[in-house]
Amino acid sequence: MKNDTGKARRRMDELVELISHHDRKYYIEDAPEISDYEYDMLMKELIALEAEHPKLIQPDSPTRRVSGAPLDEFAQVEHKVHMLSLDNCYSVEELKEYDRRVRKWLKEETVEYVVEIKIDGLGIALLYEDGLLSRAATRGDGRVGEDVTANVKTIRSIPLRLNSSSGFSTLEVRGEAYIPVDEFRRMNREREETGLQAFANPRNAAAGSIRQLDPKVAAARPLDAIFYTLSYSAEPAPDTHSGCLDALRDAGLKTSPAVSVFDTIDDVIQYVSSWETKRDRMEYEMDGMVVKVNSIEQQRRLGATAKNPRWAIAYKFPAKQMTTTLLDIQVQVGRTGALTPVAILDPVDIGGVTVSRATLHNEGEIARKDLMIGDRVLVERAGDVIPQVVKPIVEARTGSEQRYQMPALCPACGSETAREEDEAVRRCDNATCPAQIKERLAHFCSRDAMDIEGVGPSLVDVLVDTGLVHDVSELYDLTPEALIGLEGIAEKSSRSIVAAIDASRAKGFERLLFALGIRHVGFTTARDIAFAFTSIEALKSAAVEDLSRVHGVGEVVASSIRRFFYNPANVELIERLKAAGLSVATEGHRSGPLQGKTFVFTGEMRSMTRQEAIGAVEALGGDVGSSVTKSTDFVVVGDSPGSKAQKARKMNKAILSEEEFLTMIGRG
Ligand SMILES: [Zn+2]
Repeated sequence: MKNDTGKARRRMDELVELISHHDRKYYIEDAPEISDYEYDMLMKELIALEAEHPKLIQPDSPTRRVSGAPLDEFAQVEHKVHMLSLDNCYSVEELKEYDRRVRKWLKEETVEYVVEIKIDGLGIALLYEDGLLSRAATRGDGRVGEDVTANVKTIRSIPLRLNSSSGFSTLEVRGEAYIPVDEFRRMNREREETGLQAFANPRNAAAGSIRQLDPKVAAARPLDAIFYTLSYSAEPAPDTHSGCLDALRDAGLKTSPAVSVFDTIDDVIQYVSSWETKRDRMEYEMDGMVVKVNSIEQQRRLGATAKNPRWAIAYKFPAKQMTTTLLDIQVQVGRTGALTPVAILDPVDIGGVTVSRATLHNEGEIARKDLMIGDRVLVERAGDVIPQVVKPIVEARTGSEQRYQMPALCPACGSETAREEDEAVRRCDNATCPAQIKERLAHFCSRDAMDIEGVGPSLVDVLVDTGLVHDVSELYDLTPEALIGLEGIAEKSSRSIVAAIDASRAKGFERLLFALGIRHVGFTTARDIAFAFTSIEALKSAAVEDLSRVHGVGEVVASSIRRFFYNPANVELIERLKAAGLSVATEGHRSGPLQGKTFVFTGEMRSMTRQEAIGAVEALGGDVGSSVTKSTDFVVVGDSPGSKAQKARKMNKAILSEEEFLTMIGRG
């Protein structure tokens, strides 16, 4: 027993110290080190221990006073009525328990509840005298706050004079000053652009803005405010809370946009739950709902504890921010070769979801946020968005934290990585990188590239997942037998797929160049480069200056090509493709036997596909047009030809049968 008491005393001392520290960070410095949820849990633990050991309660316990002290710079003002904070709860069970307590205290069966949304901002109190806004104060310690009248007057939604028709002239009203989410994002973007530090969240931004010593700065901030309590009125006020809110609206004050009145706690719970999913779509940051007893007479009878009114409770939504430790930073290679750093976190529950990883976007982001491995970090989960690391808790550093450097080598394949000028992202350009193989294989087989019919994205998935293909060169080792049964492929289609792969060997150097997926090398660029350099050997040894002479090839494209051939993995891949019989050279656009001749195809050929035929013409220096024009030299007519055949006859163009065409290209 004695031992237990000693243990409790030590923990209580520790909690008092911890909470006081976090109070200072939150209320005075606007630089919280832990989330509100974690703070509330510390407080709950202390309250429970104090209930168990009332003799051990310290005179300076944070449960004995409302937290926070005003800053020296602002004039201090005493609130007309003490601003108590609301008791918090986090579950439906606690709401039911609250309802039972209320009914017990009141000794009454009939209780009406008003439910309002709870915006996460800075609590303020306005005093109107003779209809004019005479004073605005922050909550401060609940008894004495800071005079922020000049700043609050800059908030346009706050009336400087009450509507005289409302019947009110002297009153005190409480509410929340906040910055809407969209405005918060815009403001942070602007701050980043001008080199100012971004605010951690909308609440901090609102608090920092209201507590500006210079009202001009506050005026430039997108502040807004809503009001939720009529705390004092010289004139008679309605006898229900919902009635008071209506009266405040009539007086010209902005109130909660969603106020509802319910007879039972079950209806309250249903309503509150419906908002949990809506919260991420709202224009303001919500941290919960407030449930209040509607009758003012019942409120008076319920009264308050030293800290909280008994007639209201805040139902907090699951926390969206928590602090945890940044254990490591790992790098993921995306399908297109982009290296993305990922934060590996000490697993933490954020609003019912265990978060152990968060995206860090790119290396610039790590530098901008000044993250170090081993840091305590604030992590946020908003809606469906991937968890984000908001910021490190710099104050919590011990000196053992390590700076992070992005790896020079790709973690998936070991190739050197590069970051292009003006690009935030570092990339791996290895065409055989296992992380990128699906994307690269699908591109290689696509219509504009090697045009291999039957090998689409779903077959690519299976080919890679079953280990049949590790890079594009292994496509050429596939046999019909290996394909049967995959993706429901029957014998017949397995043979036609292998035939399509075979046929792609003759597609021509320019298509292969495009199919390799060199960054910035599009279809037309590949063609221009292929005809300018005529062979992969010449291209491999071309300097950036040589490459830049090609039409449409700038510094960026030239450097990208250089980097590609600088990577030994890519050179080896080209050797394997060469060994598989693919064309790695062209006669050149100007030097082929069909140079200067333009072909048009119509109808189906029996011995080859349209794409193969086009490839054959291009490989011999000829051009292919899509319609018969003045410049058409030959029209190749296959089975079931279209109107192009008639047009060719009308225009007296040379018409070739499939056999004549095959003879012309040397395959007769
Ligand atoms: Zn790689």
